[in-house]
Amino acid sequence: MIILKTAEEIELMRESALVVSRTLGLMAELIEPGVTPKELDRRAEEYIRDQGAEPGFLGLYDCPSTLLTSVNDAVVHGLPTETPLKEGDIVSVDCGALMNGFYGDHAYTFAVGEIAADTRKLLDVTLESLYKGIEQCRDGNRVGDIGFAVQVHAERHGYGIVRELVGHGLGRKMHEEPQVPNYGKKGKGVKLQNGMVLAIEPMINMGTHRVKQLSDGWTIVTQDGKPSAHFEHDVAIVNGEPEILSTFDYVEEALAKKAGVNG
Ligand code: MG
Ligand code: MG
Repeated sequence: MIILKTAEEIELMRESALVVSRTLGLMAELIEPGVTPKELDRRAEEYIRDQGAEPGFLGLYDCPSTLLTSVNDAVVHGLPTETPLKEGDIVSVDCGALMNGFYGDHAYTFAVGEIAADTRKLLDVTLESLYKGIEQCRDGNRVGDIGFAVQVHAERHGYGIVRELVGHGLGRKMHEEPQVPNYGKKGKGVKLQNGMVLAIEPMINMGTHRVKQLSDGWTIVTQDGKPSAHFEHDVAIVNGEPEILSTFDYVEEALAKKAGVNG
């Protein structure tokens, strides 16, 4: 069942999304060679609680952490480890928060120090494909329009679209209907309508779209060991149009500040 949200509920969801946005901004400040994902996880949990919210993932489906940190060939669902990040890595940080009964859930893939040009391009194209998908979140469109837009953009660059994991409805539950695949056919699937809130989250691989799960029961990695990127926003459909409830502004401010200091 698809649960439509009222204008008031969408405002509460924006608050939950912004808790995550600010937390990802803190992660942007902290991520550098030598920091461990475990340390990021501790800082994220503390900062989410400081904002009067609860970590959204911790305990959900028995998740042991506040963040899911997926490094290099890990696509999503990486559990934070004590292995320090190193120059040239990429790390997808996926974060959830629960406040006022509603979840926020979004993600950003960070570069650790300087990264290879082809990896940078993967990040850029994945972020672009996220916004191509969001552009299709319109009353009267179909779920397939979102996937189609993401897929066309990513495949144009020769990248693989992960099939097994998808975006989703978001609300009082982390995962609500409908599922939102990152591939699809125009005009197919569930009809989109005002009041829907969707987590749009392309997972794009530099090589094959094929993935496998590690024996930890969580981490999803690419089968060919090539890098994978993941960006996610929370999007409400309001007055027929997409309204992004989350923001990467905090991330971008932190990254610009760091570039200024280092440059
Ligand atoms: Mg997420
Ligand atoms: Mg999600």
